[in-house]
Amino acid sequence: MTMTADDKGALVPFDEVLERYDPALGLEVHVELNTATKMFCGCPAAFGGEPNTHVCPTCLGLPGSMPVVNRKAVESAIRIGLALNCQIAEWCRFARKNYFYPDMPKNFQTSQYDEPICFDGWMDVTLPDQEGDGETVRVGIERAHMEEDTGKSTHVGTTGRIHGADYSLVDYNRAGIPLIEIVTKPILGTGAKAPAVARAYVSQLRDLIVALGVSEARMDQGNLRADVNLSLAPKGSGTLGTRTETKNVNSFRSVERAVRYEMQRHAAVLDSGSGVLQETRHWHEDTGITTSGREKSDAEDYRYFPEPDLVPIAPSRTWVEELRGTLPENPTEKRARLQEEWGFSDLEMRDTVGAGALSLVEETVAAGAAPQAARKWWLGELARRANDQGVELADLSVSPADVARVQALVDEGAINDKLARQVFDGLFAGEGTPDAIVAARGLAIVSDDGALSAAVEAAIAANPDVADKIRDGKVAAAGALIGAVMKEMRGQADAARVRELILEKLG
Ligand code: ZN
Ligand code: MN
Repeated sequence: MTMTADDKGALVPFDEVLERYDPALGLEVHVELNTATKMFCGCPAAFGGEPNTHVCPTCLGLPGSMPVVNRKAVESAIRIGLALNCQIAEWCRFARKNYFYPDMPKNFQTSQYDEPICFDGWMDVTLPDQEGDGETVRVGIERAHMEEDTGKSTHVGTTGRIHGADYSLVDYNRAGIPLIEIVTKPILGTGAKAPAVARAYVSQLRDLIVALGVSEARMDQGNLRADVNLSLAPKGSGTLGTRTETKNVNSFRSVERAVRYEMQRHAAVLDSGSGVLQETRHWHEDTGITTSGREKSDAEDYRYFPEPDLVPIAPSRTWVEELRGTLPENPTEKRARLQEEWGFSDLEMRDTVGAGALSLVEETVAAGAAPQAARKWWLGELARRANDQGVELADLSVSPADVARVQALVDEGAINDKLARQVFDGLFAGEGTPDAIVAARGLAIVSDDGALSAAVEAAIAANPDVADKIRDGKVAAAGALIGAVMKEMRGQADAARVRELILEKLG
């Protein structure tokens, strides 16, 4: 008999899982390409639009329509494969993956089966400091293949899910948008680090996709979707257990949490003497648990066969080598170069990478900020806000250019760090540019002697004992008067100038 521990809360503490079991991870990531048109027709591949306006007979699967492969999508697939150290097939075909679902108008997905365009690669994944002391894990890449996206179903009703819906709507704008599915080999031997390895892999894969410029790669918009496969085997057995596949985990943090949760749940099922059911599972962001989806189909259920309406893809070696020449700098070498240029310590660099802030810091520096200042904002104030909002740093509504401008205002003496936080408040509230926010909220530091003099004189008058001390040469007492002036001016006084004025008046 099989059972699922499901949402009943039967979990084994994480440390105990590791005493008895070895985890095996596998990650499948779907990347939606940013091509102008769809995979097999000329419809726009742009996100959104009025429902069912980016459609034509081909992507609607109407009888007699003929697909044509998007060259740019093949190019992106090859570049992704090369960046992942894959072999590029000299000849490969598309295949029909047959199944019925209302968001897939053709009743099959055009995908690749036993002839993927990219195969047998690897990516080196660096773990953040606290998880593995900067350790690098080599993740094997089984394949990266081309396919198309499905449409989007909206289930209308109280649950938002198909069960209990009053009715469902379907929008085919997304149907046929090019996808690259990247599948790892089983990742073994990571033990307690399995959740961190999964997170770091998806995060660094996203960095790579961004560097290649082939996708917007926004997890919150579904441009990059991760499925997490996990199984447990008895410790030291060297076997592979039955796996579950948790679908569409939509943030790095959730990838980590989903692995951890499934390890604890699998252990509970196995401890009870039952078998793990091979199935897909849903991730619940709010409660941090997975629940049973559908029993996982075996490949043969899909009755794959070569797509008869498309010619095979046979990329010439000349073209492949040309594309190799367009690859961005290798991420490991790039990290070493940036660390050198920025003068970051190993720890600072690892924390920056681990926080998913490398490219954000890079762009902020490119926009004119000093590296340490860029790091300070992204890993401090902005990381805290991203955490509060439950989003990734890259998905915050603050751009590297904004951060660089805020820092420039600090450097110019127009605001200080404390006022800068209020500028960020304004940026998150959509109040315009940093300069506009400083003006509209009246945040600029006052260094004008006229305004400061009046406040200084008021502070002296209100604190005669302190003033006497300063007159007697106890200069350190000036701090109390500076504090009084700052309070009066809501933190917006130029503290250095205030000090000078106090000493001038009492000197
Ligand atoms: Zn179309
Ligand atoms: Mn797929």
